[in-house]
Amino acid sequence: MQTTPTQSAPCTDAQLVDYAASLDCVHCGLCLRTCPTYELTGRESASPRGRIHMMRSVAEGELKPDAAFIDELDLCLLCRHCESACPSGVNFAAMLEHTRARLLDSSERSWLVRRALGLGLGRVLPSPRWIAFLAGALRFLQRLGLVQLASRLPGKVGQAAAACPPVPPARERRALPRHTPALGQRRGSVSVLEGCIMPPLLGRVNRATVAVLAAAGREVHCPRGASCCGSLHAHNGDLQGARELARRLIDKHSGLLGDDGELLPIVTNSAGCSSHMKHYGALLADDADWAERAAVFGKQVFDFSEYLVRFAFDDLRPALGPLEVAQPICWDDPCHLCHGQGIRDEPRALLDALSIERVELKESESCCGSAGLYSVLRPLDSRAILAPRLAALKATGARTLVSANPGCQLQWSGGLRQTGSEVEVLHIAELLERALAHGRESGE
Ligand code: SF4
Ligand code: SF4
Repeated sequence: MQTTPTQSAPCTDAQLVDYAASLDCVHCGLCLRTCPTYELTGRESASPRGRIHMMRSVAEGELKPDAAFIDELDLCLLCRHCESACPSGVNFAAMLEHTRARLLDSSERSWLVRRALGLGLGRVLPSPRWIAFLAGALRFLQRLGLVQLASRLPGKVGQAAAACPPVPPARERRALPRHTPALGQRRGSVSVLEGCIMPPLLGRVNRATVAVLAAAGREVHCPRGASCCGSLHAHNGDLQGARELARRLIDKHSGLLGDDGELLPIVTNSAGCSSHMKHYGALLADDADWAERAAVFGKQVFDFSEYLVRFAFDDLRPALGPLEVAQPICWDDPCHLCHGQGIRDEPRALLDALSIERVELKESESCCGSAGLYSVLRPLDSRAILAPRLAALKATGARTLVSANPGCQLQWSGGLRQTGSEVEVLHIAELLERALAHGRESGE
């Protein structure tokens, strides 16, 4: 599948901005300290308050939406940390996505960036075949050492090569089975989202997710033909592509009903995806044919740790055994888990139930710089934002870092690899899966 190439609808400068939403900002500045790009640059225009002020100025005709304006908006990670700090309830992400959608093919952007975004969002991400092909090609180049050589080149080519994550061997890139039976007594059914970049880069996390759910007595379904949720499209301004992918995902899951005839819970192990999918109702609110189905679907979406703690941890607990992992461990809050969904306690509850030494990471709710395509499109900014996070991690003395978002996992792994650190980065599903393996061994 490919999505329809998005073209920004012609609009006036005033229509570029959700002006009514921008008026919610009272300029208090309480968000400034939370903003990684403000911290990085020290510029008011690179802060949430500054960006809102600029958007309002565009709507009022006092500022042109020129290349400098677009670049300042593109520098934003859409991490939503400012929303957690804001006493006025400013919905910054929705405001920025509104404007990005109208600037997607602005001629103020370079031709190369527009072309790369069009290809990546329109053709590659919606197509598992394209992703599998590119992953295979990248793996081949990495095996030849060519990517490592290219990473020494100056400029954007070198930066992009250095940002490439290692692609695992083909056996680790296989798709999830469509159906996995519950282990032991069946206590319910769920469906899981396989994701777009998860199968080629972090297939082991997907398999760990299914293994943990099955060990909790859940029959696990994974419908084919529905991989990408469209969150990267929405974040980068391709709302049309995001809507097409949302409809496809809802459709593919629609036949999966539980014993009560209701749609099965949809469990995702990517905080960015679950955060986005919970808002399908808002995304398709203007589509009379889909609005109701989208709202119902959104209410059935759960992040992995949220689902376990709310519905399945008592069923899982007996299957867990002693866990061998380098300690202490440290939890890093993915932005779209803590700021996007308000989920902070659930992963910590799961980790503490494993009786392992856990240390808190200073400012663990700050963005690591991954931010979807940000680490690919702006590798230097992305690395600069990660640098203080790496220093904070080092200060904890942690030997294992646990996360719940593929982008964060790849970002931290890449940064730690470049600094020669031996800290292991795991998804929380992988950690639980390791405890399962030991549970089975000690129970034998
Ligand atoms: S979303 Fe993140 S990077 Fe963007 S303005 Fe808010 S805090 Fe700053
Ligand atoms: S905290 Fe909210 S109201 Fe205050 S400046 Fe930031 S966005 Fe505006």
